[in-house]
Amino acid sequence: FTEVTTLAQEAWVKARQQADFRPFQPHLERIVEMRREYSEFFKPYTHVYDPQLDDFEPGMKTAEVQAIFDEVRPRQVALLKAIQSRPQVDDSFLQQEFPEKAQWDFGVEVITRFGYDWQKGRQDKSAHPFTTSFGVGDVRITTRVDTRRLGTALFGTMHECGHALYDLGLDPAYHRTPLRHGASMAVHESQSRMWENLVGRSLPFWKFFYKRLQEYFPSQLGNVPLEAFYKAINKVQPSFIRVEADEATYNLHIMLRLELEIALLEGSLEVKDLPAAWNEKFQSYLGLTPPNDALGVLQDIHWSSGYFGYFPTYALGNLVSAQLWEKIHADIPDLEGQIEKGEFGALLSWLRENVHRWGRLYEPQDLVEKITGSRITPQPYLRYLERKYGEIYVL
Ligand SMILES: [Zn+2]
Repeated sequence: FTEVTTLAQEAWVKARQQADFRPFQPHLERIVEMRREYSEFFKPYTHVYDPQLDDFEPGMKTAEVQAIFDEVRPRQVALLKAIQSRPQVDDSFLQQEFPEKAQWDFGVEVITRFGYDWQKGRQDKSAHPFTTSFGVGDVRITTRVDTRRLGTALFGTMHECGHALYDLGLDPAYHRTPLRHGASMAVHESQSRMWENLVGRSLPFWKFFYKRLQEYFPSQLGNVPLEAFYKAINKVQPSFIRVEADEATYNLHIMLRLELEIALLEGSLEVKDLPAAWNEKFQSYLGLTPPNDALGVLQDIHWSSGYFGYFPTYALGNLVSAQLWEKIHADIPDLEGQIEKGEFGALLSWLRENVHRWGRLYEPQDLVEKITGSRITPQPYLRYLERKYGEIYVL
């Protein structure tokens, strides 16, 4: 499998450069075959996709994930249609020159306030941002800076800080044990996305931080009112590339991948028909048809690396973040007032107490149920999206 995926990744890189799926096709055919073989080791299973999913979301079943996304799909497609019927928000001022040092310093200021402990970590630059943990007392993050796009470093830094705060909050007693990790990919992603989106793209957050940002960038943002800035960083625009997608469209990118992965493993879709199936779903969910395979089926590295079952964890992370957020609101009624004052101590303590310290002790569904009283449900996330974009786009 290592040999197959190593060769496949090489082929994927070239295929993507040429924007042509065909040279990659035989490699992916072999990978799908081997992923099926992998599932055979875990017989009896209910669905051939269950063992794939279990590697990333312990205990989670294909039927559960499908039921969740069946609820999400129609409401998110309808929300996107409603947004697109309204006048678009202006975000042109975000594409100016923003000097690197000021971006870096502002990001450091933000995550210091979040509670990132510089005695137990550091931040460096990398091509793709990531978090890496050397132990319970040493969790480091990286970020990247694009001087023409303010959001890249800003939201990337908050995102990785969210991952780091999770790892730093584990019970020290779990050091050097298998429990010394987050509960799952989705629960980890719920933490990064909470700090990036529910906190970092919220109006209360910017009521506190926007003046500081304007001080860093007086000529670029001095004349841009808070309200306009808030709308700009939350602009919704369907686009081809998943990693650049906004909150309102992101889950749609994931759903189509999940459906295609399941179809490939079930054998109801052949690899040779994958690009056409991709484009067809993309058109029906996002209203766009990718002009070539590089902007479509070839954009992500996951399948060439042999990862099946990984994609849904991104969207599940969004759902879990909002589900936790409703519970946090109930437990800390003044949450928004605190965020408006730049205070995050109560929020972080809540996360430490309820999520972080447990490490891997619980399976993701059990952990979410223990905290919120119900298993993973998309309703809080859908409520969050509909409320937020209802206000921004006056729906
Ligand atoms: Zn992440």
